[in-house]
Amino acid sequence: MNNFFYWMVDIGGTKILLLLIDSSSRVLFRKRINTPQPSNPEAVAGAIAKTIKEAARSESLPAAASPSGIGVCTAGFVDNHLGLVHQSPNLDWHDPVPLGSLIKEEIDCPVQIENDTNAAVVGEVQYGAARGHSNAVYVTLSTGIGGGFYLNGRLYRGTGGFAGEIGHTKAFGKGRPCKCGGTDCLETWASGSALAVSAREMWDEGELNNGHISTAWVFDQADQGNTIAQSILEHAAENIGLGLSNLATLLNPSCIVVGGGVAANRSDFLDKVTCYTMKHAIKPAVEITSFEIVAAALEPEAGIWGMYSLITGRVE
Ligand SMILES: [Zn+2]
Repeated sequence: MNNFFYWMVDIGGTKILLLLIDSSSRVLFRKRINTPQPSNPEAVAGAIAKTIKEAARSESLPAAASPSGIGVCTAGFVDNHLGLVHQSPNLDWHDPVPLGSLIKEEIDCPVQIENDTNAAVVGEVQYGAARGHSNAVYVTLSTGIGGGFYLNGRLYRGTGGFAGEIGHTKAFGKGRPCKCGGTDCLETWASGSALAVSAREMWDEGELNNGHISTAWVFDQADQGNTIAQSILEHAAENIGLGLSNLATLLNPSCIVVGGGVAANRSDFLDKVTCYTMKHAIKPAVEITSFEIVAAALEPEAGIWGMYSLITGRVE
């Protein structure tokens, strides 16, 4: 049987992850490179192409330089039909970028582009924490909050490809501005950045960690018995739970996968989020339905494996 080669690429604001995977799901090469700064589109496409060509040479795999496909995921508003990234705040792209054709100009093969959380939900369903589920939602709790929907056994992209932006749903009317231009989006109250904003609001300047406020620091303070930190985390867990309960009520999935740095390796926190989700969702969605909230299993490669599933046709 012929072996085919596929390159999977996850473009982040500071790092780009590249994996060469063959048609039997074997990883032949894996490399993390710095995202070019400034991260203009041509520089990013050029850095990806350069890494692919160098890897083909160094691994003595000439076929890797002309792969059967390249799957690329990145944060932002991505139109997968047109191979267009409409906007990517992480990369400072504010006008539409034809990323698919930029990469294709460098390496001539089919190129597929997806939003990173859309790719991640597919990865977790095929290879990770949501295996066997036909209706699953992936939510990443990080600096921001993103989401991807896998419904009726396939990726749900929405009309323009922009479905799943759970972080910018509006649930709380308390007047916090969001970087999307709106106010009171879920992520202004429940993301890693939101935790830091709450800490700044509730603590005296002098008591703060010399101005260094991170999610990890707030968790540390709570572990040491600081009641302000504990109440910040309790509120964050409830706000996240409200967001997830809306997803459960709206979509009736059997599984919500939670990824991202905020809840990673913090099972107590995830348990709290689960309690609040169960409390606020309609009962049929979480009691009659066999429903679970689980930690992501594939980070930081969920998007990579999702792109692999999509480009090889394992998932539509
Ligand atoms: Zn927003």
